[in-house]
Amino acid sequence: MVAIDGPAGAGKSTVARGVARALGFAHLDTGAMYRALTAKALGAGIDPSDGPALTSLAEHTELDFGPDGLIVDGHPVGREARAARVSRAVSAVSAHQGVRRELVRHQRKILSKGDVVAEGRDIGTVVAPDAPVKVFLTASIDERARRRHREMAEGGQEVSLPSLKDEIARRDAHDSSRPVSPLVPAADAVQLDTSNQTPREVVDKVIALVRERREAR
Ligand code: C5P
Repeated sequence: MVAIDGPAGAGKSTVARGVARALGFAHLDTGAMYRALTAKALGAGIDPSDGPALTSLAEHTELDFGPDGLIVDGHPVGREARAARVSRAVSAVSAHQGVRRELVRHQRKILSKGDVVAEGRDIGTVVAPDAPVKVFLTASIDERARRRHREMAEGGQEVSLPSLKDEIARRDAHDSSRPVSPLVPAADAVQLDTSNQTPREVVDKVIALVRERREAR
């Protein structure tokens, strides 16, 4: 398996998708799991600070992984998981230990089934500390905000660039400082700054790393 971690907008999804396609692996977006649970919690009127209620919600959520990605309670995870109100609440929801325990259990089950490129914040540190290939992607906050802005505009969502930059910075600070599974690079992760690289270049570097590790074994 390949573990890809890093902050919001560092290029994880684009790179993970590209690497998975090139190697014939499945692609697991763990952020989508936290987002889907957050969307469900908001819909049910659960406060993002209510750990026990969120843990119980996670325990009563059906999570499956099909050829087209994640299926939550029988429905593919849709665009609602990327809505601004979900982005604002997701860091608070994902900071609860019970929520993480439940989602990490599902993630490990998915990883045990075959070759997967998994992306998130804690894949190399917590979910799969034995992953043979670990990559930690970074990029400047300005570049990350610009990328997200472009992506959202393409999807028809108009958000101001400064407010997006604020939201990303807030989410990074929250994700990096939480006591449970904070966003930190694994000691043995290869760190790549993607600020001045095309997705193709980063994908090629990760694939080269996978080949190198395979040959070393
Ligand atoms: O990757 P994405 O930006 O969609 O993730 C949304 C949020 O989900 C992150 O800001 C973080 O709070 C949470 N997350 C996490 N652990 C992961 C993946 C995502 O805590 N492995």
